[in-house]
Amino acid sequence: MSHDCLFCKIIKGEIPSQFLYDDDDLVVFKDINPAAPVHLLLVPKKHIRSMNDIQEGDGEIISKLFMVAKQMAKELDVDVSGYKLLFNVEKGGGQEIFHVHLHLIGGWNRRVEKVAE
Ligand code: 5GP
Ligand code: ZN
Repeated sequence: MSHDCLFCKIIKGEIPSQFLYDDDDLVVFKDINPAAPVHLLLVPKKHIRSMNDIQEGDGEIISKLFMVAKQMAKELDVDVSGYKLLFNVEKGGGQEIFHVHLHLIGGWNRRVEKVAE
């Protein structure tokens, strides 16, 4: 764990934040500067710098990020209208906080109905 890491501080409660989801492995909170009506950050409690640094043993937590993303999308009613899941990787990929996190971005038009295949 890095003591200079903003997301580690949020996870430890050193910076007060409201979690929409919290378990032994990860937390979910709203992005402070949302790019859309719904913009969540899904953050593993383990400090991992970027997707370049995930190890074999991190597979379960990375997979769990996606499972919880699916659950949060449903809870916030963007599952049918659609959303984006995004990892920014390193500076050139737009990463600003060097603690792995998955963006869930959506909610532009929740009235959109399921499109036929
Ligand atoms: P990145 O660019 O690293 O993929 O995403 C970092 C995200 O964290 C950005 O979208 C930014 O708005 C968000 N962010 C930065 N500082 C804070 C903060 O203190 N609280 C919250 N909730 N989000 C933050
Ligand atoms: Zn961290």
